Amino acid sequence: MRVADEGEFGLIARLRGMLAGEREGLIHGVGDDTAVFRSAAGGLWAYTADAVVEGVHFDPAYTSWHSLGYKSLAVNISDLASMGGSAPSFALVVLGLTGDSEVEAVEEMYRGMEDCGRRFGCSVVGGDIVRSPQHLFVSVSLVGPVEEGFLTRGGARPGQVVMVTGTLGDSFLGLKWLMGGGKDSNPCAQRHLYPQPRLQEGGRARELAAAACIDVSDGLLRDLGHICEESGVGAEIFLEDIPISDAARKTAGELAEDAPGAALFGGEDYELVLVADEKKAVAMRDELGLTVIGMIKEGGGVVVLDSTGKRVDKGRIGYEHFKEG
Ligand SMILES: [Mg+2]
Repeated sequence: MRVADEGEFGLIARLRGMLAGEREGLIHGVGDDTAVFRSAAGGLWAYTADAVVEGVHFDPAYTSWHSLGYKSLAVNISDLASMGGSAPSFALVVLGLTGDSEVEAVEEMYRGMEDCGRRFGCSVVGGDIVRSPQHLFVSVSLVGPVEEGFLTRGGARPGQVVMVTGTLGDSFLGLKWLMGGGKDSNPCAQRHLYPQPRLQEGGRARELAAAACIDVSDGLLRDLGHICEESGVGAEIFLEDIPISDAARKTAGELAEDAPGAALFGGEDYELVLVADEKKAVAMRDELGLTVIGMIKEGGGVVVLDSTGKRVDKGRIGYEHFKEG
C-alpha cells in the first residue's frame, strides 16, 4: 500500500502498534501532542517534534525566512503548551538546505527562532544541517518540563465542558489571503505567519485541573476529534459559539470565504481546546478568557449544532471544500 492511500493518521496508527509497550521511564507514549518521560532525577519531561517542508507546509513566495524560523519553533512550543508544560524548553533544529540557499536567509530564519524563543523561554541548543536535493525543510524537536497531572487528549468524560482559547479560523484565512497576493500586514496573515503558542494558558489550565487538552493544528473538528478518540467519548459543539475575530470576518468577506467554516476546519491557529468539569470550567473560563463551545457526550465523534440545537450538515458548512485545502 502506498503512503498516500493510507493517509497520515492511518500510518500513525500502524506505527503506533509497532511502538507500543512498556519502556522504562516512559510515562506517556505515542498518541498525544508530546511523549512524556521521567528522568533519572525524577522530573517529568515532554518531548515532541515537528517538521515543515517547502512546497508542503510553506511557500517561500509569501513566507519570510524570519517567520519560517519563528513558526517552526512556535508549533513545537504549542505542543508543549497543550500538555500543560512550561518554560524553559530546549530545541534541536535539523535543517535541510539546497546548495542555492542564501546564508543570510538562513541567519534571518535563526533570528526568527530566537525571537520566538525569547518570548516563550525556549533555547535552540544544537542540531544538524544536511543537503536536500530540491526543497528546504526544517525539523525541530523540543524538550520541556511538565508536572504531575500534565494534560493529555485522553482525559475527557461525558458531561464535561469544551472550551477554546482565543479565536479560530484566522490562520486559514490568513493563508488564503497571502495566497491571493494580499499583504502580510493583515492580522489574519500575521496569525498564520507568527502563531503565538498558549504556553501560559496551558500551564495554568493544568494547575486548575483541566481534564483534557489539545492544540489546534489540524482544525477544531479534527483536533477535538482526537480528544474524542483518545478519551472514548463524543462531543457536541455549537456553531454560533465558536469564537471568530473581527479580522477573520472581514478577511473572509473580502475573500468570499466562509469564516465559520474556516473556524471549524482551518488549521494552524495553535489555540488550545480545553475540556474540564463544569465547576472547574467556570473558573478556568473567567481567568483565561476562554470561550465555552460545547459539551462532552457519550459515544464518539464531534457533532456540530445550530442555535436551535439542530444538527448542522457538515457538507453545508464547507466540509469538502476545506478537506481539499
Ligand atoms: Mg498538537
